[in-house]
Amino acid sequence: MENQSMNQDSKYIQGIFNYCDRWCEQCTMVSHCRLYDDGQKRLQKHYERGKDPYDMEIVLKDMEEDMKETMQLLSRAAEEQGIDLDNLPDEDCDSPDPKDCPLYIQAHNYSHLVHAFLDKLYKSMEEEGTSFDSDIFSCYEVISWYHALIPAKLYRALSSNMDHEIEEELKQISMEDASGSAKVAYLGLTRSIIALQIIYKWDEGLQDEIITLLAEADKLRKGINNEFPGHKSFKRPGFEV
Ligand code: SF4
Repeated sequence: MENQSMNQDSKYIQGIFNYCDRWCEQCTMVSHCRLYDDGQKRLQKHYERGKDPYDMEIVLKDMEEDMKETMQLLSRAAEEQGIDLDNLPDEDCDSPDPKDCPLYIQAHNYSHLVHAFLDKLYKSMEEEGTSFDSDIFSCYEVISWYHALIPAKLYRALSSNMDHEIEEELKQISMEDASGSAKVAYLGLTRSIIALQIIYKWDEGLQDEIITLLAEADKLRKGINNEFPGHKSFKRPGFEV
């Protein structure tokens, strides 16, 4: 039984889900992802009990369990490092907020523009009778998926960047996290740009808006390169060797 669980554990790549795009349906690494397996097991468990895993009450209970598990891990790690979590000194809560950073504002604006554009694109696809398995629909999915992910990943990257500006001992970890998160945003932008270029050729009526979006996306990519040059050499566990 122990061997079985060790084999099970060894198939997982540590931290693979920290720098992925969370698009599990399209992921080629599901068999190495503990997060994916845990999610599937949980879904299965709910179905077997005749419960709807997407029911709000169930979702909240799952979140509570996750939180409990995270706190247990945290307290184990703190114990190993001799930190008493119950007796930490009081500190002013002055957490860094990257929402005012120009790069985040740009990403947020991009996301808003794309959101409005997606409505138009969808209408256009309906008018043209575009099927769900077409290239155009795939482009729609790509643009749609990443427009929400990009600001979220940049928020995390900028937060980590600010962490290392204030906490010397966290510097290395935070810089790595910033580079990895920025890389996910960058890759998402690149895929979105390719998808937008395909739509550009497909629908002349959308070209003006697409040009604006391409310019915004390109500005964002340049911004990421300036702010997080380390993203280029960052290797995401499981995805780059
Ligand atoms: S690594 Fe793949 S399977 Fe795991 S969370 Fe990310 S996208 Fe989903």
